[in-house]
Amino acid sequence: MVLVSYLNPLSEEGRNIVRGLGGLEEISEHNDDLMDIVIHTNRQTISNQEVVPETLVDLAINRIKWYIERKNNKDFNPNDYAYFFNEDIAEYDTIVFHILAQAIANQFRPGSREVKLFVESQGLMIEDRLIKLQLSDKKELVEEILNDLLIRDGIEWSFLKDLIATKKLSLTDLVLDNGEIVLDREQFVFSYGDKFSDRSPDRVYDILIGDNLRELILTKLLMQNTEDYIKSIQSQLAIVEMHPAIVELGEMLDEAISESLAQYSTYYASGGAFGNMEIGKLVREAFPPCIANTVDGVSSGGRNDAIVLLLTSFVSYARLYPGIFGSDRTVKVSDIDTNLNITLNEILPLIYEAADNCTPPLFEDQPQEKINIISKLGFGMHEEVSLENEGETKWYTPMSCEKIKMHLPQLCKENKDCAKINNPLSYYSRKKWIMSKNGEFNKDSADESSSNQ
Ligand code: SF4
Repeated sequence: MVLVSYLNPLSEEGRNIVRGLGGLEEISEHNDDLMDIVIHTNRQTISNQEVVPETLVDLAINRIKWYIERKNNKDFNPNDYAYFFNEDIAEYDTIVFHILAQAIANQFRPGSREVKLFVESQGLMIEDRLIKLQLSDKKELVEEILNDLLIRDGIEWSFLKDLIATKKLSLTDLVLDNGEIVLDREQFVFSYGDKFSDRSPDRVYDILIGDNLRELILTKLLMQNTEDYIKSIQSQLAIVEMHPAIVELGEMLDEAISESLAQYSTYYASGGAFGNMEIGKLVREAFPPCIANTVDGVSSGGRNDAIVLLLTSFVSYARLYPGIFGSDRTVKVSDIDTNLNITLNEILPLIYEAADNCTPPLFEDQPQEKINIISKLGFGMHEEVSLENEGETKWYTPMSCEKIKMHLPQLCKENKDCAKINNPLSYYSRKKWIMSKNGEFNKDSADESSSNQ
């Protein structure tokens, strides 16, 4: 029988396994038994030392690397991480899940990219394990876990309201009868059997519910529980001191995640004739006249729009994602500036400096415009940027030249470099490219106030 904690490490069984761990010093020790399971896993690659864990710390880091590779690497080789799908690894994997949760909760902020990555990795791990399990084991495990989670036929849909509120599950995924979730075949046929004249209700049940709905609910609930588990650890961090072995694992994860993700970063959209539009320090000398005029301060009408709409979007995209117009993806500031250091130390100071240069200084008579700036960066209507609030509003994209000429004509003082461009961001990328080609641009000309990325 496969252990319940193979899918649900937060089960009572999983917590007992963790209690059985001698001490956290053990997680860095060479583990022969773990190596034995790994090496004897069917089809496991053993020629690549990097993927073979020798300690529980290795196993923890590889669990995260597996997810990043699995999601991003087109040439992903499942045999590199076959041991994660060997049921014999369940006990070690359960311990590793718990130490990972603690290390991530301690090292990274609530709602951070790394916390999301861990929750999503747990979801994908469960999905892949469900696919690989023998049918009889799978049915038994799913039934047992759903029972533990109090998911049974006839519960009110509102029992799953947290999953629906966080968009992990949609109401349209569920089959409801008077607000109660239908999971059983007999119940479905009893409630809806007479509604189908052209096909068998059993067949419709298999399509709409079958095992798929149970597995979907199970996976999403376990992801939600993982997220809640991280939050509960984070809420205790002020009163509980983390074990040094966990702190060290968090630091190792920070490095491993950044390195692994950097290989698959797509924030380098092609700039066509202007080379790749890479993120980099702001080069003020490459700002177009409309932006340079805004940074110097706006004294006449249009002051608020110049700072809040024009400059905020321009500076943030120029610094973080100048290739936005060549991309068809939706991005958030934290996708690139993961811990918001660049936003806090480079982008906002430049916007606030420009606001201060206005006559009268923008925040002196309209302090609420700070909230509007935060909102245009995608962090909702708040006074500070915070990962927790990201996504409440959209990251506003830069205005086109046409709009600037229409709404802020006093700022547009076209020069020869404005020819053939239709957006200040294109001007900036082209100008940087020309400056670099002429040897006029080097890193020293970047904004000196910038901190290192
Ligand atoms: S043409 Fe476009 S880029 Fe040039 S100053 Fe006018 S608005 Fe700015």
